[in-house]
Amino acid sequence: MHFVTILGSTGSIGESTLDVISQHPEKYTIYALTGCRQLQKLAQQSVQFKAKYAVVTDESSAKQLTNLIQDLKGTTEVIFGVDALSEVAANSQVDIVMAAIVGAAGLLPTLSAVKTGKKVLLANKESLVMAGSIFMSAVKQYGATLLPIDSEHNAIFQCLPHNYKDSHQSAISKLILSASGGPFRTWNIEKIAEATPAQACAHPNWSMGNKISIDSASMMNKGLECIEAKWLFDTSMDKIEVLIHPQSIVHSLVQYIDGSVLAQLGNPDMRTPIAHGLAWPQRLSSGVADLNLSEIAQLTFEQPDLTKFPCLQLAYNAAQAGGDAPAVLNAANEVAVQAFLDTRVGFTAIPQIVEKTLESFNFYEPESLAAVQESDNRARVTAESVIKRSES
Ligand code: NDP
Ligand code: MG
Repeated sequence: MHFVTILGSTGSIGESTLDVISQHPEKYTIYALTGCRQLQKLAQQSVQFKAKYAVVTDESSAKQLTNLIQDLKGTTEVIFGVDALSEVAANSQVDIVMAAIVGAAGLLPTLSAVKTGKKVLLANKESLVMAGSIFMSAVKQYGATLLPIDSEHNAIFQCLPHNYKDSHQSAISKLILSASGGPFRTWNIEKIAEATPAQACAHPNWSMGNKISIDSASMMNKGLECIEAKWLFDTSMDKIEVLIHPQSIVHSLVQYIDGSVLAQLGNPDMRTPIAHGLAWPQRLSSGVADLNLSEIAQLTFEQPDLTKFPCLQLAYNAAQAGGDAPAVLNAANEVAVQAFLDTRVGFTAIPQIVEKTLESFNFYEPESLAAVQESDNRARVTAESVIKRSES
């Protein structure tokens, strides 16, 4: 029996993880579930899965959640705060942690799981973008098993040989990340400038949380994923390519020096990479329907348009600049996306805010987590002041 903590169980990845786990009660027991604002959902999940702990961010949410769980006659104990998140990720009873909190808030608890040598299923790409060097050193130092859940990285992981870092890295000529192109792929720049949050969140193939949906529409998501791939697969940015594939069936590809290209295919449903991560190195049924290629009939591919989607280029540049540039990019993007969701700025302001924030920094190599947090905080303040200036 495996004991699982799901960081961010009330989100899209969290719910899909619980869906897969509910199909295999003989294999997985929930130790802890965590949420932030959706307390009713967290209470219901905690009772249904008989979680030992439910974690929220603050005391007042904890009081509300305790009452909701009592109403449902549940026995889950409620705890709160950043330390509580880290504690349920690091507890010795737990052997698998799904890291599915969105954004920078996921970094500390995910690292706590890494530092206790657990099997960590990584959905929270922002933690690698922010602190890739520190994060990957910790994976190595503490012997954690890091399994990518982001569909592209999970696909690449499946197409790589085991222990490829030791003996096969020179055999790989390219990692090719698929991208759907998002809801605005066929829109012109003028129409994109008028896009509303609802339009940006209406992803053609995937149902996801708001933040990653906006990132997909701006293609910042693919930029973050290039940085994520660089760290996960210990490779340079010039070996990473993005390929637009609107059907989201080919989840990514690995090109070898002999001309072979291996790809992983499947219906666009996150339960596939989640089941892969949970069961690895075995396999587990996920509830995802069989892929019917004759029904899909056509798979198409095209180059990304960097003029229409400048976020992709910004992320590439930040990765090349190195140091704290990706952390600054990530923080500025989080602030810009929230401002767009709050209808304070238009869609095309997102890359502008990120670019202006990056321009005001002299990048350096953050040696500690505190230094990363400091860059993250400064970038948030700068991005906010860029927004304020545009509002006045
Ligand atoms: P959601 O927005 O659906 O869920 C986010 C989760 O994080 C929720 O449980 C939310 O709680 C919790 N949360 C939000 N803010 C905080 C905070 N400050 N402190 C603690 N918990 C918090 O996001 P997704 O599930 O879509 O994405 C999660 C992560 O997985 C992201 O990093 C995303 O990039 C990545 N990912 C997602 C994919 C997808 O298909 N959805 C695909 C690939 C990667 P609550 O809802 O209760 O407020
Ligand atoms: Mg992805």
